Amino acid sequence: MKPYRLLLPIAALLLLGAHGLRQGDFGLVASLAVLAGLLCTRRAWVRPVVIVALLWGGVVWARATVDFIAFRQAFELPWLRLAWIMGGVILLDGLALVSMFGRAFDTWFDRDREWAGPRAAMFLLTVFGLAMARSKVSFPILLADRFLPGWGWLEICLLGLYAQWIGSLMRAPKGHRKIRPRIWGLFSGVFFLQLALGLLGMDRMLMTGNLHLPVPAMILAGPVFRGGGYFMLVLFGVTLLLVGPAWCSHLCYIGAWDDAMSRLGAKPAPGRGLRTLSFMGRGAALVIAVGAAWVLRTLGVPGSSAVLFGAAFGLIGVGIMLFFSRRKGMMVHCTSFCPMGLVGNIFGRISPWRMGIGADCTGCGACFTRCRYNALDKERLALRRPALSCTLCGDCVSACAHGQMRYVFPGLSPEIARAVFIVLAVSLHAVFLGVARI
Ligand code: SF4
Ligand code: SF4
Repeated sequence: MKPYRLLLPIAALLLLGAHGLRQGDFGLVASLAVLAGLLCTRRAWVRPVVIVALLWGGVVWARATVDFIAFRQAFELPWLRLAWIMGGVILLDGLALVSMFGRAFDTWFDRDREWAGPRAAMFLLTVFGLAMARSKVSFPILLADRFLPGWGWLEICLLGLYAQWIGSLMRAPKGHRKIRPRIWGLFSGVFFLQLALGLLGMDRMLMTGNLHLPVPAMILAGPVFRGGGYFMLVLFGVTLLLVGPAWCSHLCYIGAWDDAMSRLGAKPAPGRGLRTLSFMGRGAALVIAVGAAWVLRTLGVPGSSAVLFGAAFGLIGVGIMLFFSRRKGMMVHCTSFCPMGLVGNIFGRISPWRMGIGADCTGCGACFTRCRYNALDKERLALRRPALSCTLCGDCVSACAHGQMRYVFPGLSPEIARAVFIVLAVSLHAVFLGVARI
C-alpha cells in the first residue's frame, strides 16, 4: 500500500484533535496525534483502535453540529454555511472510517498480527474504563488532571498503550507467569508510594483526603463499622463478576506482598494443614474482622480508636507473610488468613471463569510446584479441578507440558478463554493503576 493512503485517517484524527483544542483538552489532542503516529507503525492492533476512534469521532461531530446549529438558531444567526462545513467534516471522518476497512490496509497492517484483537481490546477497554471514571467522578481522579489540568486524556492514552504492551508480553503462558508478579508488584508499589507521598503532605496524591487503612479485610469490615462507604466493596464485587477470584492474583495491593514473600522461599509444595486453614482459618478471620467492626460500632467507639484494631489485624497479616509465606514458598497470608481471599474464592464462583484440568492429565505433578495458592495436589488432579483457593493466577498453565491446565469459560475454546481472561485482567490492572489510591 502506498503510504499516502494514510493521509485521510491521519487528517480525520488531527481534525478531531483540533476540536478538543477548542475545549482546552490538550491531552486529547496529544492522544489523537499519538494515534495518528501509531498508524505508521503498521502494528495490526492499531487498526481496530483507529476504527473505534473514527466511529467515536463521527458521534462527536454529529453532536457538535446539532449544538452549533441550535446555538445559531437561538440567536437567529445564519447557520446554513455552518451546516455545510460540518457536513464536510463528518464526510471526511466517514471516508476515513470506510478507508480503514479497505483491502489496501490489510497489507499495510502486517506486523504483530497474532494477538491484534486482544491487544486492541486491552487498549480500548482501558481507555473506556478510565474515560468513564474521569467523566463520572466530581473531582479530578487522574493524576495528570491534578498536576496538569486538561492533560488527563494523555494519561489515559499512555495507560492504554501500557495495557496492550504488557498484554502482548503475556500472550504465551510463560510470559503470563513471568509478567504477572511484576505488574502486580508495580501496582502495589505505585499504590503505596502515592499513600506515602500523601501522608508526607502531598494531598494531591490521595483520592479524597479521607484516609482509611489499606488492609483488605477493611473492604468488608469498614462498611460494617461506618454503616456506609461501599465504594471498595462495589469495586471488589465488580472484579469478582468480571474475573472471578483473580483480584487475589492480579489486583490486590497487599496480595502482591504475599506473592513476593512466597517467592523468596522454597518451591511451593501442597500441604493438608494449609488446605484446612484455607477455609477454617480465613473463615475465623472473617468472623473476627466483621464481628469486631460490628461490636466497635455498637459500643460507639470512635473511628480514631477503631483504626488501631484494623492496623493490628493488618500487622498480624504482615507477620504471617514474613514468617510463614517466606519459609513455605506458599502464599500463607492469602490462603490461610485474609478474609477477603475467602470471600473472593467463594463469591468468585458467581463468575463462570474456572481453571480446568484436561482428561489427558498424566498426574505427573509438575504443576504442584507452581501453585502458591495450595490449590493443586494428587487428589485435586484426580477430581480434575483445583481446590477452592485457586485464584486463576495461571502459573500452572505453563508448567504442564501436556497442555492440560487451562482456563475454562462456557462456550469458549481454552485458547480464546485464556485470551479473554488476560484482556479483562490486564485492562482492570491498567485502570486500577490510573485510579486506585487512598
Ligand atoms: S487474600 Fe487478601 S491480601 Fe491476599 S490477595 Fe486476596 S484480598 Fe489481597
Ligand atoms: S491452580 Fe493454577 S491457576 Fe489456580 S491458583 Fe494454582 S497455579 Fe494458580
